[in-house]
Amino acid sequence: MHRRALLTLPALALPGLASAQTRPVAVASFSILGDLLRDLAGERMEVRVIAGPDVDAHHFQPRPSHAEAVRGARLVLRNGAGFDNWFNRLIASSGFAGVNVMATEGITLRRAAPTPGHNHGSQDPHAWQDVRLAIAYLRNIEAGLVRADAGGEAEYRARAASHAARLAALDAWVRAEIARVPEARRIVITSHDAFAYFGAAYGVRFLAPQGVGLQSEPSAQQVANLIRQIRAQNITAVFMENMANPATLRRLAEEAGVTVRGRLYADALSPADGPAATYEAMIRHNVGLMVAAMQG
Ligand code: ZN
Repeated sequence: MHRRALLTLPALALPGLASAQTRPVAVASFSILGDLLRDLAGERMEVRVIAGPDVDAHHFQPRPSHAEAVRGARLVLRNGAGFDNWFNRLIASSGFAGVNVMATEGITLRRAAPTPGHNHGSQDPHAWQDVRLAIAYLRNIEAGLVRADAGGEAEYRARAASHAARLAALDAWVRAEIARVPEARRIVITSHDAFAYFGAAYGVRFLAPQGVGLQSEPSAQQVANLIRQIRAQNITAVFMENMANPATLRRLAEEAGVTVRGRLYADALSPADGPAATYEAMIRHNVGLMVAAMQG
């Protein structure tokens, strides 16, 4: 009885399932872009993400199944600025022929601080950490969706406008939160140089033992310099990052005699049940932790 009911259920009660299977596919290179894309695409497209939550997208190694996910897609979305070059290769190898959107298109990128032994890419790709630049991302995604699916234009424009308004409010909130911290105390130490855009936008200094990428190990000299700085300036805001190896940071904090104040989400969202499951949640989580830690 029960079994029969289940068997007949799809045709009767789940008409959405059939249409879900035929929706056009849009693919984002990594989780933060996937969140923005998913919100703007609404129900009109099936959104897939290649480098998922807590995954380092700097040095991602796609598998054949990832090329399969891109094949036949209507739209692909990447960050650019050297962050997700592997996604370009994936797109090329999959025979993709749809709309290709680069989220940083039109954004004036910062130059990456030079790091010894780490010379690939001269641009800093982490523009999403400045909420105003995430609004620029939204505009690029909106334009791409309209190109890929003109029939959904009104819906994409409405969703983008609403999302951009939320991010403008979020940007104002970040400014108000940072303003609570005395200027001299606005220093944060993290695993790698992911927060230069955040720092420039909101007036916080970030120091990191690792450079813009995550592969290079800091030299003993770099670590010693940071420890000296932590002590001299009484820096209390020291953080791990979700997708970086915490060993260097733990050692640094131990030697400097400070406590690691938690985990910032830099280049990837958390899983759905974590504290940074969306871009907006990520910014709120990071700022909440930073402000508390900078205050001492
Ligand atoms: Zn990074």
